[in-house]
Amino acid sequence: MDCIFCKIIKGEVPSYTIYEDELVKAFLDVNPDVNGHILIVPKKHYQDLFDIDENVLIHIMKCAKDLDKLLKEKLHTDGLTLVQNNGLKQEVKHFHLHLKPQYKIEGEKMSVEEVYNILK
Ligand code: 5GP
Ligand code: ZN
Repeated sequence: MDCIFCKIIKGEVPSYTIYEDELVKAFLDVNPDVNGHILIVPKKHYQDLFDIDENVLIHIMKCAKDLDKLLKEKLHTDGLTLVQNNGLKQEVKHFHLHLKPQYKIEGEKMSVEEVYNILK
């Protein structure tokens, strides 16, 4: 199967990884909407919300809470928007949760590498 996120998880395609454990990998979105835009991706290939194991889903939500602490501490974020696309608007057909930080005052857009160097 030709899945870009499976390739990232196997290490065949590089990513700016912020967090990893036995169930998930969290890395920076290559085309961020905002500084600190993270994707949490299960290591097992589930297509979408209707396919994913519910225990993995709970784990992903716990990871989102932990990563929010990191975003607050390192990027001084003021809130967090979670987005999870299914079907028509889902570009990558491997489940992923978008973490999009909110800012009272949105600064200059940084490169993904610059953000990684702050978060790592
Ligand atoms: P979707 O529309 O499926 O919810 O979002 C897919 C997201 O994956 C997009 O925000 C896109 O920028 C991101 N993305 C696609 N290909 C890659 C990649 O190769 N590396 C990384 N880090 N992000 C990717
Ligand atoms: Zn996959």
